[in-house]
Amino acid sequence: MWQLTKNIIQQLGRKRPRLFPQLISPARETRANGDQRGALHCSPLDSPAPLSPLQAAEISYFKSKIQTETLIPSHDNIQQIGAALSTKIKKQFNRALSIRLVDAGSCNGCELEIQAINNPYYNIEQFGIHFVASPRHADMLLVTAPVSKNMRDALLKTYEAMPFPKLVIAIGNCAQCGGVFKDSYAILNTVNEVIPINYIIKGCPPTPIDIMSGILIALG
Ligand code: SF4
Repeated sequence: MWQLTKNIIQQLGRKRPRLFPQLISPARETRANGDQRGALHCSPLDSPAPLSPLQAAEISYFKSKIQTETLIPSHDNIQQIGAALSTKIKKQFNRALSIRLVDAGSCNGCELEIQAINNPYYNIEQFGIHFVASPRHADMLLVTAPVSKNMRDALLKTYEAMPFPKLVIAIGNCAQCGGVFKDSYAILNTVNEVIPINYIIKGCPPTPIDIMSGILIALG
């Protein structure tokens, strides 16, 4: 078995392109030559070899600040809404607002928009809002979808596990009235049928700005 492994390592050592030979430690070199001593260890680099022009070009590519798209100036209101959110959150929750999201059977359109507020563009964490995995850590619950019958108990248990004040926001038209799934045999038609809701953000799906504004309004 060891002989087979050794042969494979030797073959890889011969065939693999050596883009950054100076990053391969002496222990790795030893292993490639079949010597078992030091095969499982890494050692610090002694004196890195000078870079070839190709290697230098590769490194400068990763260091360059390439912009894939320009930011839209009209989205300055992200900062305005965010600043208002920050002020309210500091006042009402001391430091941060923790949100638990429950997808109660949506088409995932609403989830994509909710995920977008966490991306580097909207970056909602900078305003003191973060999503948590446990309802026990959540101040606010976001619920999407018309609530499928199979998700009813899970939604109820999540709500019961939350500490007060148990703020609940229903996201999307489906959560409000069933939307495109209205009167399906598999759903309950609204979040309100399972748990009390404080606020509804309409849309199919609502945009990230709608969601941020809705959270702001729901905070009072
Ligand atoms: S409101 Fe629209 S995007 Fe959201 S879950 Fe319903 S169908 Fe999907």
